[in-house]
Amino acid sequence: MTTFLIKSLGCKVSQYDGERLAEKLRNLGLKQVEDVPDVYILNGCSVTGRASQKVRQTLRAARRRWPAVKLVLAGCEARLLTQRQEEMAELDWLLKDAEPASIEAMLSALALDVLAEPGSISSQPVTARTRAFLKVQDGCSQFCSYCIVAHLRGPEWSRPIPDAVDEARRLVAEGHRELVLTGIHLGHYQPSLLPLLKELEKIEGLDRIRLSSIESIEVTDELLDWVAESPKACAHLHLPLQSGSDTILRAMRRPYNSTEFAAVVARIRTRMPFAGITTDLIVGFPGETEQLFAETLQFLEKIQFSRIHIFKFSPRDGTPAATMGGQIDNAAKNRRSDEVEAVWQRSAQNFYRQFVGRELEVLWETSESGIVQGFSREYIPCFIAANDSLLNQITHVRGLSVTPQGLQVTEI
Ligand code: SF4
Repeated sequence: MTTFLIKSLGCKVSQYDGERLAEKLRNLGLKQVEDVPDVYILNGCSVTGRASQKVRQTLRAARRRWPAVKLVLAGCEARLLTQRQEEMAELDWLLKDAEPASIEAMLSALALDVLAEPGSISSQPVTARTRAFLKVQDGCSQFCSYCIVAHLRGPEWSRPIPDAVDEARRLVAEGHRELVLTGIHLGHYQPSLLPLLKELEKIEGLDRIRLSSIESIEVTDELLDWVAESPKACAHLHLPLQSGSDTILRAMRRPYNSTEFAAVVARIRTRMPFAGITTDLIVGFPGETEQLFAETLQFLEKIQFSRIHIFKFSPRDGTPAATMGGQIDNAAKNRRSDEVEAVWQRSAQNFYRQFVGRELEVLWETSESGIVQGFSREYIPCFIAANDSLLNQITHVRGLSVTPQGLQVTEI
């Protein structure tokens, strides 16, 4: 039986796409393994130049480790290479998408044995996990000046509600307790996120629904009401900020300024004082002077995010930002990244501290050496001394103490 190993780099959408591709291959009778496969598939990310570099490094490492294995590249990076008609010496196949015809072409080009016809690809349970991604949207028409993803993912697409609900039911039947709604531009889900969320919320056995990421200006009052009131909604919103400087936000072509962003955060906190608010931030965007970076730091201090995903700007050919003046050197990007990291570590700890002595609800996900870890509804990493029987359980606990890793909790 042909075996495959799949690794996904990058965002939640990429993780989701990797899992669905694996599922399709399993349905064709290929066996998924963790080591020494016949074919190694890398679902690569292109969001930054560094992400593309990582794709190459990972492929080279796989080639060194398993010289005879067939190497396949899929995901955004495969789309990028296809679009640019570039080749990569390490590769045996470039899988430009996960459509049955493309999978069929790959299987036959690599002479891989299958047990079923590619046309017969259907759903089948995936490994039971606690938290699953549910992709309901793809594509983006915003074209921020630094972003290659919008160029790679094609037009916007929204998954019909019945289809999304079907997959959600299946994921819940497999044992998932939490679903994370993902999309490249989730707030552009059509016709609107609210009817979808209201349908998902009716699924029996589903305990928690989390939004992976949504643009601040797309947080409507109705959506906020749902997040605040639904017993299944997680009290957590990930709002990509990218910069706290209005000059940089304009250059990035982001559709808001820092005042508008802060007003959305204030609206959320009025409605949900203990909600987790996380973000993405780019440091070293062209033209980001020390003064403008200081504005960003100041803004971060003001907002007090509970987590910041930091990207160091890297120019992507074909995007306006790649040729802008005022490119920032790597040393400055590294230093700025460290400074942002220090700010959010402090703000995260301030946020966690509010939960010492307070009750939280945690879904327990991993266990190592007698310590079980999981996330609260607010997306606080929590840990407790316990045995594996806690895994995939949702329990109510009390915050005990704040550590650099998160919140130590105790049973109630
Ligand atoms: S919103 Fe901007 S950063 Fe996000 S995918 Fe669209 S173009 Fe890229």
